[in-house]
Amino acid sequence: MSACEQLDTVVTRRLDEYASAVTTPDAPEVALPGGIEIINTEFTPDTLGMKVVFTGTRNDGKVATFETGSFLDNGGVENASDRHDICVSTAGGCTKACRFCSVPYSELGFERLLTAEELVVQTIYTILERNRGASMPNALGFMGNGEPSDNAAVIPAVCYLADKPELNIERVTFSTIGENIAGIGKMARSFAQLDMRTIMQFSLHAADETKRRSIIPGRKPLDKILKAIDGYGEVTGEPVKFNVALMDGTYDFKGFTNASPEDARMLAQILTAPSAVSGNPIRRLLKLSAYNSVPGIPFEPASSVAVEAFVAILAEHGITDIQRFRGSGIEINEQKTIGGFACGQLRATTPNTLAKVHQ
Ligand code: SF4
Repeated sequence: MSACEQLDTVVTRRLDEYASAVTTPDAPEVALPGGIEIINTEFTPDTLGMKVVFTGTRNDGKVATFETGSFLDNGGVENASDRHDICVSTAGGCTKACRFCSVPYSELGFERLLTAEELVVQTIYTILERNRGASMPNALGFMGNGEPSDNAAVIPAVCYLADKPELNIERVTFSTIGENIAGIGKMARSFAQLDMRTIMQFSLHAADETKRRSIIPGRKPLDKILKAIDGYGEVTGEPVKFNVALMDGTYDFKGFTNASPEDARMLAQILTAPSAVSGNPIRRLLKLSAYNSVPGIPFEPASSVAVEAFVAILAEHGITDIQRFRGSGIEINEQKTIGGFACGQLRATTPNTLAKVHQ
């Protein structure tokens, strides 16, 4: 049985009934399948961003709280056409401890990896709520809580979604820190067979290995990770997107920056190198993300002067095709008890949501 055939038939039937509601716009509210409940829904003040907090109970009784983001503003990507961005979590919390991310340090902590059914339900529910009839293309990002390559359920869930043209899913992007080399290889081989675009986004953040290790945990050397990343691009035919959020350290990380001219030069070297697998020229994409501050996390966005100097150095090396991403939604505001919607902030944080989770 291929990795794409692993969803059992009972689960598939339940999901099929649920998915069919997307194409019947006048259908009454449809019950969520299989032990999944909605705990809370939050909106940004302009309502373009929505965060849904779910809980799910697995067959063994283990509960997970997980969050899904929905963004109707293209996430701030310049010149992007209308579409619905959905940010899916692959776990309740995260086992990694990236220093700039709020997820591992949030009160709820890590609970468990999500099931394929929980992954699919997040997606279908969000389309039903925000894009019923799926008239806009949906762009799915497995970029919420969790590392997608650590969760084997991601493969059958994506295969299921790829087989549902009525959901109008234009593409799926997976964010990875690159540590699970075997998992990345398995995803590449499984997704290469699909008709839907499946893109890998690699969280590089710093081309200097020592610097990167100070903010992203792990043991694998960067050259091995880059081989797995290039392998994904070559097997699927989809150029990998390298993500760099430009930030400066504060208190514990005072003196840290990944936005210096030297950082830009080292990044250019990685982006323009031949494939680490075949030695052939390879296309790599670059996404420069704005860093979204989180109370209690020792980083702040790099200054706009540093960012523009960084971009100018990349241009000197021929890198001008850059996606600039400012992060969707709003940031965590402790005073107003508004939960975060931006990158690295999706975990439930507001007192009223936490109270409902603990009920
Ligand atoms: S950045 Fe991603 S992998 Fe790192 S702690 Fe946050 S959710 Fe986990």
